Amino acid sequence: MCCSAQLTEKDLVPQSLNPAYLDAIKGMRFFDPHVHMTSRTTDDYQAMADAGVAAIIEPAFWLGQPRTGVDTFRDYYSSLVGWERFRSSQFGIKHYCTIGLNSKEANNEALSEQVMEILPLFIYKEGVVGVGEIGFDDQTALEEKYYRAQLLLAKEAGLPVQIHTPHRDKKQGTQKSMDIAIEMGLDPHMVIVDHNNEETVKEVLDRGFWAAFTIYPFTKMGNERMVEVVKQYGTERIMVNSAADWGISDPLAVPKTAALMLERGISKADVELVTYRNAITAFAQSGQINEADFEQPGEIDQSLKYNGSTVLRGGQQPRPNKQSTIIR
Ligand SMILES: [Zn+2]
Repeated sequence: MCCSAQLTEKDLVPQSLNPAYLDAIKGMRFFDPHVHMTSRTTDDYQAMADAGVAAIIEPAFWLGQPRTGVDTFRDYYSSLVGWERFRSSQFGIKHYCTIGLNSKEANNEALSEQVMEILPLFIYKEGVVGVGEIGFDDQTALEEKYYRAQLLLAKEAGLPVQIHTPHRDKKQGTQKSMDIAIEMGLDPHMVIVDHNNEETVKEVLDRGFWAAFTIYPFTKMGNERMVEVVKQYGTERIMVNSAADWGISDPLAVPKTAALMLERGISKADVELVTYRNAITAFAQSGQINEADFEQPGEIDQSLKYNGSTVLRGGQQPRPNKQSTIIR
C-alpha cells in the first residue's frame, strides 16, 4: 500500500533535529582560528552560531584556480576586511582575518611582486590579526622567497604569522618553515604553525611555536586523533580549527571536536583552552582582538546593509527557523 497516508505537521517538523553533540557543549563558546567563510554559505554561519562559535579568523588563501592579476587579490583582501566581516556579523559571529600571499600562488613571480606591493595596504587594517596563511606548498625557491619577505613584513608590523605547512613532505616542510622563521628573527611565540599532525607536534611545541590542528573529514587530522594528541601533549599552545573552505570540510569541526573531547574524558577547562582561549591568546598579540566584542551574544540586526547590500533576499524575515522542514 502506498501514498494514502497524509503527512501530518508532526512528520514535517520533527521534535528536534538538534544533533546530540550540541547538548554536550551547550553554553560553551568557540573560536575557530582558521576558516574560509568566503567559500561557505549562510547556512554554515547559522549552524556555527547555533553551535557556539563566537569568533573566527579567515586567513587569505588560494581560491581553487590561479588568479591572473593583482586586482583580484586586492578585491579579495578588501572583501576579507569588508563584506565578509559584515556577513559574519549578521549571524552574531565576530570575524577577523589574516592577510598574505599563499604559497601556491607565490610560484608566479611577476604577480607575487605586485601582490607584495599591496600587502602593506591591508595588514594594518582593523580586524587583521596576522600575516597568513603563508609558508610552503611544493617547497620551491619562489615559495621560500615570498615566505621570507612576508615574515619580514609581519615582524615589522608586530603581527603574528599563520603558517600553512605542506601536505607533502610535511615533516621536513614544517621544520624548514620554523628554521626560516627563527633565522628571520621571529619570536616563536608570534608564530602559529598550522595543519600539524602526530609527526610534527612535538618539535613545534618543543621549539616554542603554537601548534594548530586542522580537523578535516577523511584526511589530515580526524577529531579522534585530536583527542589523543591533547591527552598526550596537554593543552599548552595547542589549538583546533576547521580550515573549512570550498573543498570537503566541516565548519562545525571545532564544536564537534570539543564535544568529543568532553565525551572522552578531557576536562571542560582543557577543552576550552584548545577550542577557544589559546587562539585568542596567540592572535591577540596583534592588538586587534577585544574579547568584549564577542563575550556575550550581541544583538543581530539582519536588516543592516553593507554598501547597500544585505544578507536578506527580497521580503525575507531575519533569522528564519531552520529546524522546520517547511521552507516559508
Ligand atoms: Zn586555509
